[in-house]
Formats: sequence, C-alpha cells, structure tokens
Amino acid sequence: MRLVVKFGGSSLRHDFHDAVQLVKMLRDENEIAVVVSALKGITDKLELLSKTRDRKILKSILLDYASFAKKHGIDPDVIKSLSRGLSFAFSLNFPDDRIRRDFILSFGELFSASIFAQAIDGVFIEPWNVIQTDGNFGDAEVDIAKTRRLFTRIRDLMEDGKVPVIPGFIGGFKNFRTTLGRGGSDYTAVVAGTCLRARAVLIMSDVEGIYTADPKVVRDAKLIPFVSYDEALIASKFGMEAIQWKAVKLASENEIPLLFGRTKGWWMGTLVSGRSSGMPIITYKAEEPYGIICVINEHPEVSYEVISEGKNWATFRVPREETKKIVGEVHRRIIEKYLPFAKAVSVAIT
Ligand code: ASP
Ligand code: MG
Repeated sequence: MRLVVKFGGSSLRHDFHDAVQLVKMLRDENEIAVVVSALKGITDKLELLSKTRDRKILKSILLDYASFAKKHGIDPDVIKSLSRGLSFAFSLNFPDDRIRRDFILSFGELFSASIFAQAIDGVFIEPWNVIQTDGNFGDAEVDIAKTRRLFTRIRDLMEDGKVPVIPGFIGGFKNFRTTLGRGGSDYTAVVAGTCLRARAVLIMSDVEGIYTADPKVVRDAKLIPFVSYDEALIASKFGMEAIQWKAVKLASENEIPLLFGRTKGWWMGTLVSGRSSGMPIITYKAEEPYGIICVINEHPEVSYEVISEGKNWATFRVPREETKKIVGEVHRRIIEKYLPFAKAVSVAIT
C-alpha cells in the first residue's frame, strides 16, 4: 500500500521515538512518504524573528533544534548548513518583506525534516523543487498539475524502497520559497497523497482524532469514528485545529481518505472520507470583536444570532470572552442523547 504519514509539531517534540518506530514498522510492507511540521512553538518564534530580527530569538531556535537532535542521538552537524542559512537570512536581499518572511518561516520544517530523515535513514526532499504554488506568499495555493509531474521523482524513490521525508508547509514560486498558511503541513501531506495516488494520508498528532468538541477545552468531548469530508471542511473553516481546511478541500476533491491518530501508542481514532457517523461537532473561533461557534449536525436551541448556515450546520455570534464556556454548555446539552451511541461504537471498535 502507498501511504503518506504526517507528524505534527507536538508529536515530533514529545513522541519522536514513537513516530520513528511507526515509520519503520509501516515501511516494511508499504511505500511510505513522510511529511513533518516544525517542532511545536518554532513557527511562532520564526514569525517573531522575521519581525524583530532579534539575535536572541535566532539563537534560541538554533539551540532548540541542536539539543533536540542530540537528545535523539543525532549528530547536530546535520543541521549545520541550515543553521547557517537562517543566520544569513538578514544579509540576503529580497524583493519584498513577504518573500523574506516566507524564507525565514521555512526553516522550522526544514530542520525537522533533516533530523527525521537522518533518524529513519530516509531521503530529505527540498520542497520548493517539487511543490509548485502561486505567488500568494504566506498562504499559497498549490498548483497540483505542475506538482504532480514533479512528484514522479519521489514516486521513483519510493518504488526503490526509499522513504522520502518532505518538510511540510513550504512550496516554491519562481525562485522563491512560499509558505502554505498556518497549519499548512496538513496541506503538504494531502498534496503528496494526491500526487502519489496514496491509499490514505495519516495525520498523526497528540490526540486520537476528531472529537465532538476540542478535547483540550471540553473534557467529555467524544471521539468520532467517521467524519465526512463536508463535515471536516466546515469544522476546519470554523476553528477545528485537527487539520487545515485547504487540506480537507483537496482530499475531498480527490477522494483521499484521511486517517487521524495519536503518535504516542499509534492510536488511530477517526477516518475522514465519504462516510459520516452523524455525530455533532462544535467548533469555535474566539476572534475580535466577537466569538463564533459552529454547530454541525444539530440545531441547538440558543438565542445567539445566526451568522451563516448550511444544510446541516450553523454559526452563531457569541460574546468573545465567553466563547469557550458557551462551547462547553452547548456541547453538554447536545451530547446527552448521543451517549448510548458513543458507547456502542467504542465497544465495537475496541
Ligand atoms: N509549522 C507550521 C505552523 O505552525 C505549519 C504546520 O505545523 O502545519 O503553522
Ligand atoms: Mg496543525
């Protein structure tokens, strides 16, 4: 089977060993391509670095990656030339600031991929040579037709039994690096899945899958076994962090199944495909000047103003500071009638 496996920033930082072992196990019987994010927290620091040019921030990023490599028994020399590249970013000339910003932001995923490639004896891929985008720096869109042609090289590698390690989040436009928007490593993973005609894309993180509400905010949120592309698209547009919406859209257009799981213990919990469990999903965005909550597969009886709605979903305007509290309340009211069902499903899948 041909598979793409993507690891998020928290998995790399906290569950590196499980991630490496998962890839080693899967590659025995499958053709695997790996996509990695920056270590958790690094992209925020790179954003700050590109704004402030503060050498202290630069130093802390380089130190973070060097000690991360060492901790996992990898010679920090593998990131030496990348470190130099980032250090020189401010003495290079760029046509404009957005181009410089994307160049700087690209380093997190590049560091991660070169360390991961070393750990699994894989092949580091320079993403700007394969993933071609438009010139919308900071939130670029991938040109799938061009990218598909360039992916033949990666497919050949995989057929030879090698494991390509692709830094997520980064593309190329003319001679420049672009970035694909925050959370864009998911998009890279689905681009790879599409261009390689993979059987599935695995999105590995620190939670088992997609829940009825953000499990970090709502304690009794329930894991949902099957989520449809349409449900995932709405949820990701309205704040669900499990996946970037551009990734869901592309997966839906190409009918690529997405399997969500937790790296630690290799626990797979949700399949995003044409199928749906029909469970409610409540997401939120706490943006200025008001909060938005989105409810999918249910019509809650609330007095908040409806902002937008579709066949099986609606968004509501709520006081910003109360957003999370309201998510919890609406969730509690809705989830009660689903509890017997959730129990039956969890028995059936374990
Ligand atoms: N590192 C990027 C971000 O933090 C991309 C990603 O992790 O998907 O947004
Ligand atoms: Mg993410």
